[in-house]
Amino acid sequence: MKTGSMETYSIRIDGIVEGVGFRPFVARTARKMGVAGWVRNGVDGVTISATVADKAALDAFVAALHDEAPAAARIIDLQIEPAAPEDADGFAIIVSSEEGAVSTLVSPDLATCPDCERELFDPENRRYHYPFINCTNCGPRFTIIEALPYDRENTSMADFEMCDACAREYADEDDRRYHAQPDACFTCGPHLWFSDGNTREVAQDREQSDALLEKAAGMLADGKVLAVKGLGGWHLACDATSEEAVATLRERKRRPSKPLAVMVSDLDAARKLCEIDETAAELLSGQVRPIVLAPLRDDAGLAAGVCDPLPDLGIMLPSTPVQHLLTRLAGRPLVMTSGNRSGEPIVADDDEALDTLAGIADAFLGNDRRIVARYDDSVVRASDPTPVPIRRARGLAPAPLFVPAVAGDEELPTILACGPEQKATLCLREGNRAYVSQHLGDLEHAGAFAAWEEALPRYRSLFDLDPQVVVCDMHPEYLSTKWAKDYAAAHDVELIEVQHHHAHIAAVMGEHGLDEPVVGVALDGTGYGTDGTIWGCEILQATRGDFTRLWHLPTFPLPGGAAAVLEPKRCGYSLLKTFGALDDPQFAPFLDSLTEREAYDQMIERGLNCPATSSLGRLFDGVSALLGLCEVSGYDGEAACLLEAAALREGADTLPATADADLLTPQRFHQRIADTIVRRCVEAADTTTITKVVLGGGCLVNRILLQLLEEGLEAAGLEVYTNKELPPNDACISYGQAIVAAARIQER
Ligand code: ZN
Ligand code: ZN
Ligand code: FE
Repeated sequence: MKTGSMETYSIRIDGIVEGVGFRPFVARTARKMGVAGWVRNGVDGVTISATVADKAALDAFVAALHDEAPAAARIIDLQIEPAAPEDADGFAIIVSSEEGAVSTLVSPDLATCPDCERELFDPENRRYHYPFINCTNCGPRFTIIEALPYDRENTSMADFEMCDACAREYADEDDRRYHAQPDACFTCGPHLWFSDGNTREVAQDREQSDALLEKAAGMLADGKVLAVKGLGGWHLACDATSEEAVATLRERKRRPSKPLAVMVSDLDAARKLCEIDETAAELLSGQVRPIVLAPLRDDAGLAAGVCDPLPDLGIMLPSTPVQHLLTRLAGRPLVMTSGNRSGEPIVADDDEALDTLAGIADAFLGNDRRIVARYDDSVVRASDPTPVPIRRARGLAPAPLFVPAVAGDEELPTILACGPEQKATLCLREGNRAYVSQHLGDLEHAGAFAAWEEALPRYRSLFDLDPQVVVCDMHPEYLSTKWAKDYAAAHDVELIEVQHHHAHIAAVMGEHGLDEPVVGVALDGTGYGTDGTIWGCEILQATRGDFTRLWHLPTFPLPGGAAAVLEPKRCGYSLLKTFGALDDPQFAPFLDSLTEREAYDQMIERGLNCPATSSLGRLFDGVSALLGLCEVSGYDGEAACLLEAAALREGADTLPATADADLLTPQRFHQRIADTIVRRCVEAADTTTITKVVLGGGCLVNRILLQLLEEGLEAAGLEVYTNKELPPNDACISYGQAIVAAARIQER
């Protein structure tokens, strides 16, 4: 038995350890395990002094730190060093003088935790039905933060002075609300208000608050459209089972066909609407609570107008107490869609909401807590076993991505990558941390560009970063490119331009820490190519810093340029004309219905406003039009979504064996495209002796294509890599740009 001598160690932990209850967790764990010492926050993480009997006790303590950490905490790095023995008695949380320094990482917003949900519906609890209940394990973060460090006075909760009861919890190390900055209750915190657009009723207590919620739920039951203030912005809600309510919402929002997301109160209710497998269940009920795309059940009973004719429903569970209260009271699935104009980010400001949504909503359920930064709902496809992120916003951004270190990273200047034009994000990279902003919308819309311009100074100040290098897309007309050029000139910093599809590939390489040459396959909508044509189906031999183009889809003209993106029939016609299929009888119905043929002919023959493209996205659009699925697109990607949906309905084995081999069908088209790309990849792998294949680009949201490619490439003995935390669409471009720029700087 060991007696007397104790050993002291210093443990340094880097990661998301601020605002997630990490220090109280460390103290509780230490006390439980008989570890003496202290924990404190430092400038770049948490430092623990642990005095233990022996190395085994230290190992057990460290293992517990890893295994039992609070859900929102993320340990990135943990270093242990022997330290001078300390005569420690018990375990303390030290409030350090360094705590004012910026750089500890705050977690993104967190959905209401199970403990708070229980209290919310416990009539004995003092926060029973309190619509803003939260604790250290849940609640708003980046949507209320104005500056770091993350203290109440630096958030929009500064408007509310804590009552004695809340202040006691806040100061009590053993309380779940210890240092929970948004801690509040009916006495001291934010309250609901309700407005019909003219008068406003403000709740002061539980009774009034409940009455407003009941009124709101009553309106939903009556088929009315309600604007509801959420965590990162305003939603529009209506009864998802009412054809009439959904039609009204669509008409007023001028959103004819884009599918609408639905919110239900809990997992059981979700299972009545969708096929929910384990992956989907975890995504739905986790702390992020994104919109999860899951297969819609035949007997779901939703209004057809919600997501017809797509096979998947975007479904989510409540992430805020207001949503918990409202969905339970409503007792029915609710459409819960962003309150915004098409292509623009969600509306966050109350006055802006009352103004912009006035013609859409019959009433408003708001509250007096300001939303400092707008965050749309995140979107994930629940594919088994690896979910595919589609939009990264509330609950996910701006958690840093840790770029696995490569030699030279220490020397890197701070990089600002300005991202693309659509599905815009921006990225600040310092060393091996990359902060990718939330989804900011399509920059050609004024509101989205304003959101982009508003996000930049915010992230710069929150993370205390001053860019020394600015990166942009090669497309000269992107607003983000123009901004980057102006900024670089005005501030005399270096500007690096990155080709769009190289950025797609580099993003995947960065996420996987790949630093060797790869075969990069970009399957995308559009991106500006080095030869002035529009690229979009490219096989590249790529490193992080450079690439050569090995193969691309044969090019075809896009009559009308941008107009061809909105009208897939233009792509369809161009395909027939370019590839000599105008006389193929299967396309006669398409041509018969085409009234603009002459105009297209003129444009194509004279090369007027007819950029050449190798885009796979446009090929999908064109084929969708040729098959009569979508001639004019109601939303971004509609034609391709309908083609995928048709292929899923059709199934692989419904074609009679004798069917004409040249007959174009949705499933066959997917198969042929996948076969072609696999074959070209195998060729590229043979000539380059590279066996790692990286897949990137927006077309990978198509699950049939992704699955066929993965199967085909793996069967050919190749290793396949795709995006992990970032979406494969243009949301990953800013991060990819930062990866390319860093490599170019290192290669000098
Ligand atoms: Zn909680
Ligand atoms: Zn209070
Ligand atoms: Fe792209």
